[in-house]
Amino acid sequence: MTDKNSRIAVDPEALRARYEQERDKRLRASGTDQYVFAEGRFAQFDADPHAGEPVERPALDEETDVLVIGAGLGGLQAAITLTKHGVTDIRIIDIAGDFGGAWYWNRYPGLRCDVDSYVYLPFLEDTGYIPTERYARGSEILEYCRKLGRDFGLYDRALFQTKITAMCWDETRARWIVTTSRGDTLKARFVTTQSGAFNRPQLPGIEGIDRFRGRSFHSARWDYDYTGGDCAGNLDKLGDKRVGIIGTGATGVQVVPEIARVARSLTVFQRTPTAVAARENGPTDEAWFRSQSPGWHRHRQKSFTQIKDGINVDCPIDDGWTRFFRSLIAAKEALPEAERTPENLARAQEIADLEHNEMLRARVDRSVRDPAKAELLKAWYRTMCKRMGFSDDYLPAFDRDNADLVDVSGGIDCITENGVMVDGVEHALDCIIYCTGFELGTAWVHQAGYDVIGRNGLKLSDKWALGLKTYHGLFSHGFPNIFFMGITQTGLGTSIPYALGQQADHLAYVIRHCLKNGFRTVETTQAAEAGWQKVMAQMNEIRRPFQEACTPGYFNAEGKPEDQRNTTGSGVYFPATEFFDNWETWREQGDLEGLVLST
Ligand code: NDP
Repeated sequence: MTDKNSRIAVDPEALRARYEQERDKRLRASGTDQYVFAEGRFAQFDADPHAGEPVERPALDEETDVLVIGAGLGGLQAAITLTKHGVTDIRIIDIAGDFGGAWYWNRYPGLRCDVDSYVYLPFLEDTGYIPTERYARGSEILEYCRKLGRDFGLYDRALFQTKITAMCWDETRARWIVTTSRGDTLKARFVTTQSGAFNRPQLPGIEGIDRFRGRSFHSARWDYDYTGGDCAGNLDKLGDKRVGIIGTGATGVQVVPEIARVARSLTVFQRTPTAVAARENGPTDEAWFRSQSPGWHRHRQKSFTQIKDGINVDCPIDDGWTRFFRSLIAAKEALPEAERTPENLARAQEIADLEHNEMLRARVDRSVRDPAKAELLKAWYRTMCKRMGFSDDYLPAFDRDNADLVDVSGGIDCITENGVMVDGVEHALDCIIYCTGFELGTAWVHQAGYDVIGRNGLKLSDKWALGLKTYHGLFSHGFPNIFFMGITQTGLGTSIPYALGQQADHLAYVIRHCLKNGFRTVETTQAAEAGWQKVMAQMNEIRRPFQEACTPGYFNAEGKPEDQRNTTGSGVYFPATEFFDNWETWREQGDLEGLVLST
């Protein structure tokens, strides 16, 4: 089976109407507020199943040049890049028990990165590491994160199982004062913070979650004691269990086949189907990998992002992502130059998108024998309304005798003591697994779990209550010497570590500049920030029609793109590579435009 079909006939009018109808079915007035999070009475969903015994250590009272918050691929890249720039007085802090970030928390069976590992994994040219497969398992990525920690000597500088309790700017000393759950007082000249996007469990706000008498957990806190096995599968304790899965996003697509293979029964509660393309995984050709010329990795990362942004460059990758984005580029280029108005371009790309999804719906028919299930598994929305799914065994899993699919597009009634109630019918279960995604729609401070108190007592929770306000994502006026990494009004791409790597380069340049030249503080000006907010507003306006037409999801604030309090809604710059190129030029110019430095 292949997804390499070229053209397929579509009826745009009919499809538009169907997409609208399907979206409207799923729109909830509460938007992002329909969810609850793993805190308060749901705190048990946040417990770290990987931590083992808490590590005992004395409380620290120390001063460092840079405090790096977050030990995932953002914090790791920040710490390593700083080290490469000669900034070695670093402390790293994370609530998790090891390096890895999202890959520390997410260890569910079937977990793989959906991006080409030769793009996704940072520092491949430094470490010489050869990923074993094109789409690496989560366990391999976690192990690679640990390797980065070891290779770059970061373990000695890391404080794990440590939560920030307060963070305050001390104007007199020009230091950030950070206190922690371990009684530490950490003083730092500079702070980089990346609290991660895919680590804090989000639960559906369905009545009765805490009433269920069986076992229930979130996919990002997998309970292998209960299921048996490990992330490679072999869930041998589920043979006599009736398992329910709520959530069929990128995670659900990877989890479902693993459970279907072993459980006594599997019931999947699907609100919105994911459009699933072929995976096309395979082992790495080591000879090919070794034959790459210096600089290949950055080229691969950049060109992959450029293709996503519609820029027709020479990119060595041919996969489900690039094939789709190249089809949009081809649609654009097929128009005569004189006809490339924004309306014509949008329409041509919409048609290409409709064709792509029609092809994926045909794939469902080829993959699933049961016609009723096949119909339910077809996705009716545009690509990039949600993360694309890739799997060769997800769709066929529904043909198994032990697998059931329940349409909950109208909502789940409630969770009962015994299972899940839908349209008045109780589905009795031993276990419910919530593959319901991550806290991405709330304000930054809620996601981070701590407030940041800047100059003159200014609270970040106040300043960013209705959305991020930054200059180039990293900087925010009133908050000197702190760099906000992540999805923060910078450029972004399908491979997030690439964007984080660019952020790390940028902040390392600024920090080194300050340390080398004796600057005490660096802060963006109000004017620069205001200018950037105008750019972000323009970006949001450009994306608005697409987002409004999308089925709800975290990409469009659950169908309410006007809700911009969260990080994605606050705006990102595209094309991302243009943004990063501009940063490079900014660094080359060396005048640090938009920033004020003080001695
Ligand atoms: P998502 O937010 O993408 O999906 C959550 C799922 O839960 C959706 O299917 C959603 O339905 C469903 N859901 C939520 N509330 C309810 C409810 N009340 N009743 C029924 N269903 C409900 O989370 P994922 O964990 O799947 O993925 C999150 C992100 O993590 C991805 O977008 C991706 O960026 C990343 N990821 C990356 C991977 C990689 O390989 N790099 C792998 C896995 C995840 P609905 O769609 O209707 O809202």
